[in-house]
Parts: sequence; structure tokens; C-alpha cells
Amino acid sequence: MTAGDPMQMNRLFSAALGLSAPWEVVGLEFDADRRRLDIRIDFPPGSTFACPDCGQACKVHDATELTWRHMNFFEHRAFLHARQPRTKCSKDGVKTVQVPWARPGAEFTLLFEATVVEMGRNGLTPSAIGRMVGENDTRVWRILEHYVDEARARDSHADVSQVGVDETSRQKGHVYVTLFADMVAARVLTVVEGKDHTTVSSFLADFVAHGGDPQKVTDFSLDMSAAFIKGLGKDFPRAHLTFDRFHVIQLMNDAVDEVRRAEQKSRPELKKTRYSWLRNEKNMKDDERESFQALKDSTLATARAWRIKTALQDLYDEEPDKAPGIFKRWYFWATHSRLAPVVRVAHTLREHQAGVLRWFQSRVNNGLLEGFNSLVQAAKARSRGFRSFRKMATIIYLLLAKLEFRLPQALPGAIHAR
Ligand SMILES: [Zn+2]
Repeated sequence: MTAGDPMQMNRLFSAALGLSAPWEVVGLEFDADRRRLDIRIDFPPGSTFACPDCGQACKVHDATELTWRHMNFFEHRAFLHARQPRTKCSKDGVKTVQVPWARPGAEFTLLFEATVVEMGRNGLTPSAIGRMVGENDTRVWRILEHYVDEARARDSHADVSQVGVDETSRQKGHVYVTLFADMVAARVLTVVEGKDHTTVSSFLADFVAHGGDPQKVTDFSLDMSAAFIKGLGKDFPRAHLTFDRFHVIQLMNDAVDEVRRAEQKSRPELKKTRYSWLRNEKNMKDDERESFQALKDSTLATARAWRIKTALQDLYDEEPDKAPGIFKRWYFWATHSRLAPVVRVAHTLREHQAGVLRWFQSRVNNGLLEGFNSLVQAAKARSRGFRSFRKMATIIYLLLAKLEFRLPQALPGAIHAR
């Protein structure tokens, strides 16, 4: 390296790294062939450091030589080398002093790790990050897991009052995980493996561990299919359940389709009409609307089922005080339809009536979780599946938990590449 006075270069790099006394850059070794920059950091002889326990200035007892990978210097890999000192305190004895640019035991500087976490938060997969920074993805995972765990350990659930629950899959072959979200703060609180009766107790334990108060939770939003509805009532005694309105309509859509599939065997005009029965007429093209008009006004069983579904949809536009009466009449109509799939759904809704009608007070639905779920599935696709629950949970927390990571901001003018 020929650029100028070496002392000046050392001072420049000390400033760029944000070092303060007694730490200073004492040497730079630039190897263009190996595309590598080695930065030597040290403290002058006779330096003192604050005792990690009591803070009093202590002399250095001994020191261990360590190396950390730092941000690339342009396209060159950069490494910091320094002696990590141990102080000898008259009160506390021999103690290890932590260097300001890395956490204990880390192979990377904080700035390097901050960049990795930032890339992860922007949706890059650990293997993509690994390729970009030139490290294997096991090391990238270790960094992400460390910061997610650390941020989650500090994360407070004390203000949570409305919780949304949804399940998603980790792999084909029905490996399920359940997401619990704070509906007000619009963030994931907890990811739990499975979707059975133990799911609620796992959530409760994690919720309480993060300062959450079960007595403060007033609402849960979820599907009627959830296997843990009873558990929620027991563990969250003041919470009302709201069954997601889109899931309610989905059940009726499925019933309409079941009726149609049975009926089309004798009524070929019903073939290839599945989506017309699901679609909003307003969104149909003119010719589709015309042929659908004739179908829906017919005496077909499918058309009757569809009219019952449409009436259920319309219920959600009613005033809250009128809704229970209208639901009662709808139930009577549906159960007297002689359409087995419709009767079945009507009974399910009657059984869960309180949760169906609770929507008129809580107005919560699982739209937020549907959005989360598609982000999770997209992340899963980018990663070509998650190899473990731990890895999937780490990515979900990284992307969707709005965690506060304790990481340095990249210093303006510092030696980093982003
Ligand atoms: Zn001390």
C-alpha cells in the first residue's frame, strides 16, 4: 500500500471503525491477489480498561489474540485482528474485557452481523445471504437465530388484547405450525409447532413468559375448525371468540359446491360452473353474467344452496342488534332446505353461533393472518422448504414479529459494503 503516510491511514481507519481510546488501528495489510484486507487493532502499552464488574480502571493482566470478519472493503474480505485483554482487579480478580466491535464469542463484527440481519429482514434467504457475503449458511443461520432469540427474550406482550390465530404448513405431508398474532399491533407474537389441544398451552406459557396477561385478552379471532377452541376458553377466561367471517362463508361455498357436484351428474349444464357460484356477479363478464342469471334463478338444488349462501353473506351487512334474529331465520331456512351439505353447515354455525355473531361487536377477522400466511409461504418457497421448526420460526419472527434488534447502525463512511 503506497497511499500516503501509514500513520494517517491508521487514524483514518480508526475513525471509520468508530474506535475510541485506548483502541486504535496500528497496521493495515492489503493483499490485492488474495482480495483481502487485514486490519490490526491494539492498545498502547500501559493502557487501562474498566473492570467489567466494578468499573474501576485496571491494568491488563494478559490478552488473547482474536480475529473477526468485518464488512467487505469494496470487494475485498476484511478482517480485524486484536488482543482481547483480561484485567486484574484488586476486588474482582481476573476478568475478560469485551471488545466494542463484537459480541462475546462472535466470529464476526457487530456491523457485519447487522448487515446479515438487515438482509434477512428484507426477505433474503440465509443461503442467498451466505452467497452474497461469502459465508456458509450455517453461520448465517447462527447469526439470525442469535439476534431473533435475543430480541424475542426482551419482547413484551403486556399490551396484547386481541389475538388472531391461524395455522400454516411447514412442509408437504401436513407438518403444521400455528401462528398467534397481536391484531392491534399487526405482528406475530408466537409460532407454535402443531395445531392440537397442546397448542394453546404452549402459547399461554410463551405469552406469560413475555409479560402477557391472560385476563387482558378480550378477543380471539380464528377458524371454527381449530382443534383448541375449548382450551382458549379455559386459559383466557375473559376472551370472546370471533369466528372469521371469511371462513364462515368458505364453509357455505364448499357446501354449494358439494351440492353442485352431486347434481351435475344429472344436470350437465352445471359442469364447469364451479367458479360462477363463488364469484361476485359484479365481477363477471357480460356473457358469463347472462348464463349465470338463468342458472341462479332456476329450480336447481345448486341454485337454492347458492341463495342460502348469499343470504348468509348479506347477514354481515346487518345492524348488530338485528343480526341474531336474522341468523335465527336463516338457520331455520337452511336446516329445512333438504340439502345435506347446507344442513350440516347450518348446524355447525348454530353450534358456534356466539362466535359467529361476536363479529358484530369485535369486527375482527383473520385478513391480517391470511396476509402473514402468504408471506410465510413465499419465504418457504424461496427457501425450498424449512428443514426444521426452529428455522421456520426464526424466519417468521424475523419477518413478521416487529422485533427490536440491538444492532449498531452502519456508520456513515465506515468500511462496509451493503
Ligand atoms: Zn472490579
